[in-house]
Formats: sequence, C-alpha cells, structure tokens
Amino acid sequence: MTDRIRRFLRDKQPETPCLVIDLDVVEFNYKRMRELLPQAKIFYAMKANPAQEVLSRLGKLGSSFDTASRGEIEQCMAQGVDANRISFGNTIKKERDIAWAFQQGVRLFAFDSEAEMLKLARSAPGARVFCRVLVDCGGAEWPLSRKFGCAPEMARDLLRRAAEMGLEPYGVSFHVGSQQTDLEQWDRALAQVSQMFYALAETGIDLKMVNLGGGFPARYRADVQPLEAYCEAVQRALVRHFGNRMPEVIIEPGRSMVGDAGMIQSEVVLISRKSASDRKRWVYLDVGKFGGLAETMDESIKYRLTTPRDGGRTGPVVLAGPTCDSADILYEKTEYRLPLALKVGDKVEIQATGAYTTTYSAVSFNGFAPLKAYCI
Ligand SMILES: *Cc1c(COP(=O)(O)O)cnc(C)c1O
Repeated sequence: MTDRIRRFLRDKQPETPCLVIDLDVVEFNYKRMRELLPQAKIFYAMKANPAQEVLSRLGKLGSSFDTASRGEIEQCMAQGVDANRISFGNTIKKERDIAWAFQQGVRLFAFDSEAEMLKLARSAPGARVFCRVLVDCGGAEWPLSRKFGCAPEMARDLLRRAAEMGLEPYGVSFHVGSQQTDLEQWDRALAQVSQMFYALAETGIDLKMVNLGGGFPARYRADVQPLEAYCEAVQRALVRHFGNRMPEVIIEPGRSMVGDAGMIQSEVVLISRKSASDRKRWVYLDVGKFGGLAETMDESIKYRLTTPRDGGRTGPVVLAGPTCDSADILYEKTEYRLPLALKVGDKVEIQATGAYTTTYSAVSFNGFAPLKAYCI
C-alpha cells in the first residue's frame, strides 16, 4: 500500500469494501516496463482494470491498448485514444463487431481459427492480422491455455491463407499464462514462433511482429522474481531466436501494470467456528469471490492480507466472503493465518488487488453492490 492510499483511506473513511488505485503507481509501472523492454510497444490489456482514469493516464503516456470487445474499444476511444493505438486482440469476436471496429479505424486484429480469419477477411479487408499460437502455460498461476491459440502448423497455414484472402499477415502472438513464474516460458514460445517466421519466409510471407502477450507478475503472497529478471529473460530469448532479424515486438501487460497499484479495504463481518473443537476460525469478510476476488477460484491467486492487529499471535483461518453461496470461500486449503486478536468490524486490507477485481465483481449478487473503485 502506498502513502497516498493510506492517506486517502484515513481522510475519506470510505464505505467498505472498496478498491483504491494509486494512478502514480500505474504510471510508474508503465514507465518501468518501457525502460526495461525499450523495443517493445506496450498494449495495455485493459481487461485487467478498465477504470477510465487508468485508461486516460496510460493513454496520455503513449500506451496502446489490447481490447476484447466493442465495449472496451468504446471505453478506450472515450478517453481520446486513437483507433490506430488499439488492437482487437480477442480471438472470439462477432463479425458485426469486427466490421464496426474496422469502420472506427482499428487495423490490428487477432485470430486463432479459420472461421475467425474468414470473418476478418470479409469484414476487415486488408487489416493487419496476427495468429495466436497455443503454448502450454506451465508455471502460470492463472493459466490462459487451451481456450486460446492454435497449433503452430495450423497458424502457419492460416497466415498463408490470410494473405491470399487480402489480409496482411502481420505476426504471431502467444500468452504464456498470467502471473507466470517460470521465466523460461518465453524462450520456449519464441523458439516455436521464430520457426514459424522462417517457415513462412520461405513461402514469401514476411511476418513483421511478435506479440508476447502478458504474464508479467504482480506481487502477491509468494515472492516473485523482479521485473528486471523477466525482461532480461524475454530479451535473451528474443536475441537467441531472432538474432539480428528482430521483428517488431508488442507486449500486452495487464496484471503487472495495475495489480500492485491497488488495494481493497474490507471489513470483518463475522468470526466463528464450526464446532467447539474446530481448529480453524472462519473469518467472513464483506468482500468475496462475487465482490471482485474471483481469482481466488481454485485458490489460484493468493493475496497478501494485512490487518490493524498484525504483529500479535496468529492462528489458522478459513477465509470467506459474505454471500449465501458456498462457493464464496476464498481460502480453505491454503494455509492462511490471521491474528488471534482479530475482531468483527476490523478492517482487513487485501494487497495488490488492482488487477482483475472490479470487472469480476457481480452486479448485485445477494444485494451486495459491485466493488467500488476510487482512482487517486
Ligand atoms: C488477459 C490478457 C493479457 C494480460 O495478461 P496479464 O498476464 O494480466 O498481463 C494480455 N493479452 C491477452 C490477449 C489477454 O487475454
């Protein structure tokens, strides 16, 4: 938590639960990424946090944007972002949305299947297209595998056909999985991708761009390697596989851009035990899976918690949200400990929750309002 967030919470005493985003941290993260990977063009994956203040701050800094829908494109353009800084990166789009985006001036589109490529050929003629390839996502805490990407051989054929259909086969993308902890994953993916570049070049198709997706970390409970190490690994992999035939490089960071810029303040609603001999206390917060903490699904993302009673003795807890759904348990298998002195009404701070929270919160499940966000 930053001093600015601390001051805001102290002075404003907002109702909980709420997310507070420090825009200066977003700016810092953007500039740091630029410094560490200077040859990469940043397309902020706005699904991580599409607050208009975040989009506008990043837009002013010169960022481009990775979008997934007409709605996201509209939100971006409403902040003054020009269509030529927008990539329509979802591989699953309605053809009428493709046509709309093309009409707005968007010229960069993703696909990973024949049917999607044909939609693009019909409704975005001449546009730059890139094909997403499957990678295994090992080491990622929030994998984005299986659903996206196709086998490299298929990608090669589709890019070749895209050229025949009047599209500009521009490049290849992949995503090594979000909150990736294995720095070698980029090397493996780039080995595959560079093979595709060479194979296509032999048939007269010169791809221009590699899109490395996201995967860069935020700092949750477990330590992660510093961003410097990630960027060095990416840099090394690029040089190893492309040498002096370096293509344009795009990255699409989401989590690493906004994750540690935000913090959710919540309140303890109830502390109980299921039996007199229950070893663990159940701690119910006023925010849970349906209030924005969806990434605790399968206990994947393990947030850092702080309380005003930290420092004293602690005991094991099951941590749950406030709704009447038994799926609304945050951590049960993962060992979480909270102070024994914790009381109903205490504030619990859930750190590094700037990414993938507000947009995951339900509209009004059980009458709980969607997660309120303050950008400061
Ligand atoms: C979600 C997403 C990202 C962002 O990934 P992070 O791991 O949050 O940085 C980037 N690119 C695409 C295509 C995505 O779907």
